[in-house]
Amino acid sequence: MKPDEVRVLVERARGAQQLWWALGFRGRRRALHSLRHCIVWKADEIADLIHRETGKPLADAMVGEVLVACDHLGYAARRARAVVRPRKVSTGWLLTRRALVEYEPYGVVAAITPWNYPFLINMSALASALAAGNAVVLKPSEATPLVGRKTTELVLEAIGIEDLVACATGDGSTGEALVRAGVDKVLVVGGRETGRRVMAAAAEAPNGPVPVTLELGGGDAMIVCADADIQSAARAAVWGAFYNCGQSCQGVERVYVEEGVSRAFIEAVVAHARRVRTGDEPESMMGPLVSDVQVEKVEAHLREARERGARILLGGRRIAGLPRFFEPTVVVDVPQDTALIREETFGPVLPILKVRNVDEAIGLANDSELGLSASVWSQDQAKARRIASALRVGSVMINDVLINYAVPGVPFGGRKGSGFGVVHGDDGIREFARPHGIIEPRVRFAAEPYWFGGLFAQTRWARAALRLRHGRGVRRVSDAWRSLRRRN
Ligand code: NAD
Repeated sequence: MKPDEVRVLVERARGAQQLWWALGFRGRRRALHSLRHCIVWKADEIADLIHRETGKPLADAMVGEVLVACDHLGYAARRARAVVRPRKVSTGWLLTRRALVEYEPYGVVAAITPWNYPFLINMSALASALAAGNAVVLKPSEATPLVGRKTTELVLEAIGIEDLVACATGDGSTGEALVRAGVDKVLVVGGRETGRRVMAAAAEAPNGPVPVTLELGGGDAMIVCADADIQSAARAAVWGAFYNCGQSCQGVERVYVEEGVSRAFIEAVVAHARRVRTGDEPESMMGPLVSDVQVEKVEAHLREARERGARILLGGRRIAGLPRFFEPTVVVDVPQDTALIREETFGPVLPILKVRNVDEAIGLANDSELGLSASVWSQDQAKARRIASALRVGSVMINDVLINYAVPGVPFGGRKGSGFGVVHGDDGIREFARPHGIIEPRVRFAAEPYWFGGLFAQTRWARAALRLRHGRGVRRVSDAWRSLRRRN
């Protein structure tokens, strides 16, 4: 789409936003629930479209995208009023004043989304942004334009406000044009380099700097302690690394397992990984990688790791006769400073590294430029919590993987090179609203004591007020009184 066309979408969305805002909290809640119900009725059609456009298994599309999307819409619809309605706040020492904070929508939000969970990520962005009262111009990935268009069709059908959610199809240049087209807020879900470019464009936009939320890639670590349920951890590692063909931002990218149990864990992982059925039938467990470029990246990361001493225990090759299909791959003895560990591989590769103890595992997990999420495996919940708190990532799962994107009340976002800001949860709704403070008189005086010429312009009154409010314990009143009697 050309920049002029994108600008027209933004202008129209601005008009639609006013109709949306005029509906009030109740009207918007009803509308978001209608959207959710509309999705449920059309679930088969939507899942089929996702399957055809991405190649992912039908069941994954139904559960991992459609069901979770409905959950996020339901949560945002239910919570929006409580989260962004005006609230009273303290005025501190200004006792004659009353203060409140209102939350107002930004206006038009640009949501730039990737292909790996095309429907879910579109809907999770819409859930928070619409619940906060915004209109949205969506820029879906160039690899999944049909799911992008379907998203806007569903909104129109269920809510009935034309242009409330518009769709700007195209590649990165369309995304950049959208950022510069006068939008009020940008959410980008994508790679780290894209995040940098979007930030630069948002800074230079004619109405800029435009605020951005960056949801970028991850290099998620899984820590397996010696007291973990090894069979369960192994099954989860296989699911977390190979679900969606390893193309999940919060997928398991590296495992650190304590030496004492590493052998049993690795054997169990290989046994479970052998059972992953790969293919292009709707009921397969693992589908294809998104592009030849992605296949080449996976091969390059594996090649370098092998040259540096890593051993491939399973897989490691393309599947003959099926373009872009890659075998589920398990690798051990991978040095920490290889691209396989330090970068996001985004393919069906599970590197396992042995560590001497938990401290070493925490150190290596944190030794990354990325910080999206992580998981900890131990049967001692209190110990697992302590490890979780030491990990510098946005969220941590204990004895599970991947599911943090599917829990609607938990904010999802990264640290370091994985971005900043959040989607989901109450914080995710507030991410799309700006606070607007209002301070008004409780009691009116012709002149306030802190204005020029007022009581507090005299040092002794100012000192007395300070002591009265912030002095220590019961001495506050007598201290204030004493300071009043001082001349200055
Ligand atoms: P990508 O960065 O190539 O593209 C993402 C979107 O940004 C696409 O719509 C693309 O057209 C657009 N884009 C690209 N360059 C742009 C530019 N200069 N200006 C504006 N828009 C631009 O990512 P991808 O390959 O589609 O998706 C995979 C990446 O997304 C992985 O790194 C993955 O980890 C990440 N991801 C992150 C999350 C999260 O919530 N943190 C979720 C899913 C995927």
